[in-house]
Amino acid sequence: MKKTKCPICKNKFEWEKNEFRPFCSERCKLIDLGQWAGEKYFIPGKKIDIYSVPIDEIMKNKN
Ligand SMILES: [Zn+2]
Repeated sequence: MKKTKCPICKNKFEWEKNEFRPFCSERCKLIDLGQWAGEKYFIPGKKIDIYSVPIDEIMKNKN
C-alpha cells in the first residue's frame, strides 16, 4: 500500500483510497485552496485553530 504524506498536516495516508489527494482530507484540501483565509471562515475577533474545527462545520459554511 502506497503511503503518502499530506503536504498540509504531514499525516500519512493511503494514496489510492483517498479522494482528496494529494491531501489526506477535505479539510487539508480546503486549507490549501486558501479558503480558510477567506471571509467565509473568518470570524472577526475570534482566533480559529484550523485543526480544531470539525469538517462538518466547514461544509456547513461552504455556500
Ligand atoms: Zn492533511
